[in-house]
This record gives sequence, C-alpha cells and structure tokens, in this order.
Amino acid sequence: MKPYFSSSPQIIKLLSKRSLVWSVPTKDKIVYLTFDDGPIPEVTPLVLEILNKYNIKATFFCVGDNIVKYPTVFSQVLDSGHNICNHTFNHLKGWKTKNHIYLDNIDKFDRIYQSELFRPPYGKIKPSQIAKLKDRYAIILWSVLSCDFYQEYNFEDCLNIAIEGTKPGSIVVFHDSIKASKNMLEALPLYIEEMLRLGYKFELLSKEIINNSILQSKTTSRLKGIYKRTAKTVQYIN
Ligand SMILES: [Zn+2]
Repeated sequence: MKPYFSSSPQIIKLLSKRSLVWSVPTKDKIVYLTFDDGPIPEVTPLVLEILNKYNIKATFFCVGDNIVKYPTVFSQVLDSGHNICNHTFNHLKGWKTKNHIYLDNIDKFDRIYQSELFRPPYGKIKPSQIAKLKDRYAIILWSVLSCDFYQEYNFEDCLNIAIEGTKPGSIVVFHDSIKASKNMLEALPLYIEEMLRLGYKFELLSKEIINNSILQSKTTSRLKGIYKRTAKTVQYIN
C-alpha cells in the first residue's frame, strides 16, 4: 500500500468540495505545475533552470520565512515570470494550530508578498480556517502529488505517479526542498518532456483562471441539462 495519497483523499474532497480547488475544470490539455516550500538557494535555482529550458511557467507556494532568508532566490523566481503564492510564513499545520495563530501566520506572509492563492501546508486545514480564508484566497490543494519527498520512492516511482495521475486541468505538486530534491530534479525534466509529447501545455494558476473555468464548466453542465431535457421531450412526443 502506498504510504501517502498521491491524489487527495476523497473524504476531504467531499467535506470541502465548494471551497477548495483540487483541479481546474477543463477539457483542454493544460497542466498546472506547482512547487511547494521554497525558495531555497540549494534547490530553487535548479528548478528555475529546468523550467527555463522548456520555457514553462509554474506556481510557487513559498514559505514566508524562506523568502525573508533568501531574498535573491525569491527575486529570481519572480523575475523569471513565475507566480509566488502564500504557503504560510512558518509552514504551519492547520489541524494542529489555533485559528488566530494560523491566520496571523498567513497575514505575516501577506505583509511580505500579496497573493490571491493560498495552499495549506500538508493539505491540512480546518473547516473553520477555510471559512475565514475562502473569500480572501482561492485555496489550492492538488490532484496529483508526485511524492518526491518520500524517501522510500526513487525518481521513477515519482515520475510514474505524476504521469499516470495527470489529466486535463490537473494541479501537480513537486517540492523545491532539500528532502525532495533528489527525486524531483531527476523526475521533473522527464515529466515535462512526457507531458509535452502528449500535447499538454503548462500554465500559471490564478484566481481568474480558476473562476472562469468553474463558471464555464457550470454553464456547460447547465446546457447539457437543457439538452437532456429537450431530448427527453422529443422522445416523448415521438
Ligand atoms: Zn509545504
């Protein structure tokens, strides 16, 4: 059995379906590449090199404390045209943290850099925290977790998990952390190459893209409903 969920647990998805973003609803072959826990000088510049080689933009959920410690690396990420988003200042686990401390820590990040997107560290956030944050941020989880940080896996395991899990609109997580770097740096270029070969494009996540896609998919399902009802009527008349 896999020690970690490579995709998000169904139960959490059901509990918080409306307020959390797990993937972007689209039929187009678009994938949203995200990196968590940087920026750090040992790993993040190597990620930037890989992304630059393929001319791909990605969304970085950064730890505020790392931004303060490594401002040059932070600027490199920004200058390369990638997105920087809030992942708390100290990488706090929502389930184990009192709400006022959790929210203060998110605000502390916000004072360094403002973003419309927030990802809870470990994917763990209480419903009461979601309620406080959902109007301010698009709260982003993931549909594909590469498990690059898991030391029992080699890069091929992570690569296969990422490739097999990716579908149109997938939000994919890698980590620009020391722990994940061995697997991530080997798997990432191969993952990108395979996705490009399959015809996928890589795009930046934004609140606007998410809202537009959700709106579009709601319109499509409404139209499908009308079509179904019309088809039924026609059948009845015949
Ligand atoms: Zn994290």
